[in-house]
Amino acid sequence: MPSSGNNETILWNALFEASWDGMVVLRLDGSLYRVNHRYAEMLGYTREELEALHIWDLDTRFSQPEIEAMLHSVDSGGAHFETRQRRKDGSVIDVELSNNGATYQGDKLIFCIVRDITARKTTEERLRQNEALLQGIASQVPGVLYQYRMAPDGSRSFPYLSEGLVKLGGLSIDTMAGAEVVPLMSRILPEDADLVEAQTRRSAATMENVHVEFRFRHGDGSIRWIECRSTPKQEPDGGILWTGILLDITQRKRAEERVQAMAITDGLTGITNRQEFSRLLDREMERASRYASPLSLIMYDLDHFKRINDRFGHNTGDDVLKTVADLVGDSLRDADLHGRWGGEEFMVLLPHTGLEAASRVAEKLRQTIANHRFETLGFVTASFGVVELAGGENSRSLAQRVDEALYRAKELGRNRVEARASHQDAQ
Ligand code: GH3
Ligand code: MG
Ligand code: MG
Repeated sequence: MPSSGNNETILWNALFEASWDGMVVLRLDGSLYRVNHRYAEMLGYTREELEALHIWDLDTRFSQPEIEAMLHSVDSGGAHFETRQRRKDGSVIDVELSNNGATYQGDKLIFCIVRDITARKTTEERLRQNEALLQGIASQVPGVLYQYRMAPDGSRSFPYLSEGLVKLGGLSIDTMAGAEVVPLMSRILPEDADLVEAQTRRSAATMENVHVEFRFRHGDGSIRWIECRSTPKQEPDGGILWTGILLDITQRKRAEERVQAMAITDGLTGITNRQEFSRLLDREMERASRYASPLSLIMYDLDHFKRINDRFGHNTGDDVLKTVADLVGDSLRDADLHGRWGGEEFMVLLPHTGLEAASRVAEKLRQTIANHRFETLGFVTASFGVVELAGGENSRSLAQRVDEALYRAKELGRNRVEARASHQDAQ
């Protein structure tokens, strides 16, 4: 303390006492020479009690010899470190110490500023625990927890991505650090990228949750289905922060696709079933009338198929059906639709094809079947009916006319093609 006059002493004392930090002056022997009010309050002692103690009576982190060494080495350059001190009631507080050595009236004294950092330490510890908890949860979640941010200037980033990204995306967190959006977003398949962007913008505008499914190129090159759910929150700066989860739903999607495919496929032949063929027929009829484009329908039925079943058994009959469906399927163009209509009756729908061209296709199919030699039973033939869609005709009428044409082919001796010119002629 400066001693040049009484007034100055009062000033320094006032400063010493008014400080929000604890202040301690130590002697080199470790005894407390003077403490301020705040320091006494911090440790729950009276000033007199403290001034009868040594600093190692209070410190719980360092031993007496360690403190003695420190006291001797403190110089005017000072020292700054954290330690712990015990209060009179036995509780321990975290403190931050700033020390300076100085000579006062011929003696070396140590001036210490002591700041109670228990609250900060507690907060830090709680943060650490929260972080550990989050990491623990994130590592258990079968997906990726993430935060996605849209800044007021429109720029995007991922402030948080959990470890699950390694498995789900085949990407390391490090390559995403700094949370660049591009490396992740560019892996969404182009077909789905617009949908994801539209959902994001809609959510930003309405503050509604995002729920979107999209395909994603995994680090190993495979395509994965990802389900994304997130909740937006407005940030103080006008940005938007989404917190959400990404789940790999590839298996579920594949199963759904299988079920969907099964629902429209004939189990025996693997071609379109009757229900789906009817749907496609309606669709193509609508297109044909909208674009005034010709559309033809072929129906074929195996000749004397009962005999094949009777002679060789139902399983052989099934094999014949499969083989015939394959032979016909291989002969058709991609645009043609092939369906199983009933037991051994099939349909072929030919978009952009008139009656003559369709009859030529039917004739080619007839020959393909008739020329195929089946191992156990030799040769099989089929009869064909062909019609072209007439203006204003509905699908029932079209199906009935093709059935009638087929019936005529049977009547006229089988293994032949019968074409029916149009609606009006069909009596
Ligand atoms: P037609 O030349 O007049 O057509 O004589 P057909 O013996 O083929 O007579 P029809 O078309 O009326 O008979 C169809 C037979 O096809 C009846 C049935 O036993 C058989 N069939 C229908 N569906 C299947 C099937 O899925 N598998 C097998 N193996 N046979 C079937
Ligand atoms: Mg038949
Ligand atoms: Mg039949």
